[in-house]
Amino acid sequence: MIHDQADYTREEESVHEPLLSEKGEETVDVREKSPLSDDLIREELTLPAPSEPEIARHYTRLSQMNWAIDSGPYPLGSCTMKYNPKFTEDVAADPNAAVHPDRPDRAVQGNLELQYRLQEFLADVGGMDAVTLQPPAGAAGEFTGILIAKAYHEHHGNDRSEVVIPASAHGTNFATAATAGYDVVELPSGEDGRVDLEALEAAVGDDTAALMLTNPNTVGLFERDITEIAEIVHDAGGLLYYDGANLNALLGRGRPGDMGFDVMHYNVHKTFATPHGGGGPGAGPVGVTEELAEFLPSPRVRETNGEKGYERFEPDESIGKVHGFEGNWLVLIKTYAYIARLGDEGLADAAAKAVLNANYLAERIDLEVPYGPFHHEFAATAGERDAADVAKRMLDFGVHPPTTKWPEMVPEAMLTEPTEIEGQSSLDDLAEAFDLAYADVDEALETAPNRTAAARIDQVGAARNPRLSWQALEDE
Ligand SMILES: *Cc1c(COP(=O)(O)O)cnc(C)c1O
Repeated sequence: MIHDQADYTREEESVHEPLLSEKGEETVDVREKSPLSDDLIREELTLPAPSEPEIARHYTRLSQMNWAIDSGPYPLGSCTMKYNPKFTEDVAADPNAAVHPDRPDRAVQGNLELQYRLQEFLADVGGMDAVTLQPPAGAAGEFTGILIAKAYHEHHGNDRSEVVIPASAHGTNFATAATAGYDVVELPSGEDGRVDLEALEAAVGDDTAALMLTNPNTVGLFERDITEIAEIVHDAGGLLYYDGANLNALLGRGRPGDMGFDVMHYNVHKTFATPHGGGGPGAGPVGVTEELAEFLPSPRVRETNGEKGYERFEPDESIGKVHGFEGNWLVLIKTYAYIARLGDEGLADAAAKAVLNANYLAERIDLEVPYGPFHHEFAATAGERDAADVAKRMLDFGVHPPTTKWPEMVPEAMLTEPTEIEGQSSLDDLAEAFDLAYADVDEALETAPNRTAAARIDQVGAARNPRLSWQALEDE
């Protein structure tokens, strides 16, 4: 059972938690304490001076002003907001994990073995032949993957200028292709919400470097014609890029490599339960087939030839580095721990439950779901209502709302992905929050949310003109 908490009202525009510096400051004599030479240090430094309880309360309050997977369901479609099991934090906190990456291979054999095994795990899950762990996010993985495709075409003397992307794709796909120097050819969706084969045939040709696709696609639909899609793109001489954001629907049940994809990224912070949000850190390893392996970034890890052990190496035609050292290493340890704990059966079970949960929830809500059958996520429509208003109202009922107004092929879309971690009662709460918000009076929708620390935030302003420090705030 959930409760309408709308009788709680904010006194001001937003709940105010003072900056630590507003609670008192002290001036520290840095010259006396620092080992650096005088020309490298400032005259004096003013720092906040809270007591330990004040610090603990400050950060606890701040954490409670935000939504978190640790405090409630978080069905943000496409983002796969899984609970992050805490044992992975213990593993990553092992002092032996945080060694300096510049140490020689022989001194970090355990870490190299873990990297090697993770490369193998991921290759196995994706049906790929070789993997780099370096990219720090899904979008960075996309960019790496498309640079690899580009290097492959250039290596073979092919001059190709276009990347084909379905209109329903994630914004990062378009940005990736454009940033890598390609012209984007947008592919309209077919009536059933999937790739339209005729439109695809018309879109690909001698200029096609790659098709970027996720499967299930961004409304959760499995691209049943994936074999034909791969054939059309390959016959035209292009490569198939798999956006791995939706891999959670396929774990242990289907592999992009077997579907004909040549290169893919994994969002480990989605599929493999590493922390996600607030800008990271995540990781976006990239997997490729044998013929693309020589272009992968360096370093990669392999078994030492002849002797027992592991070594880092640079692939022959490597595109270079896309991040420092081995990428977001501690995140990769959590990924490894999660996969090792679940095993083949656990991963396949996660995918099955993710699909079951999405279908159960969709069945329970009053909102219409135009496209199906879907897998791990669905795009409901708010119809005549504003999807963003409904979402804001859902916050008052104690759940995080879905992704809104995307993909655009569903009007007033509410893209919902409960993931496998929610139990039945939590799915029932979600369904109730959906229905109560959807059926609420206009006034309640327009003024929601009432229960959160801040009401409606200037999202464009926050993205375009971020103030990332208290100094920047104070300067204003
Ligand atoms: C999340 C997402 C990405 C980008 O991944 P990040 O790790 O957030 O950079 C790309 N494609 C789709 C479909 C996604 O959902």
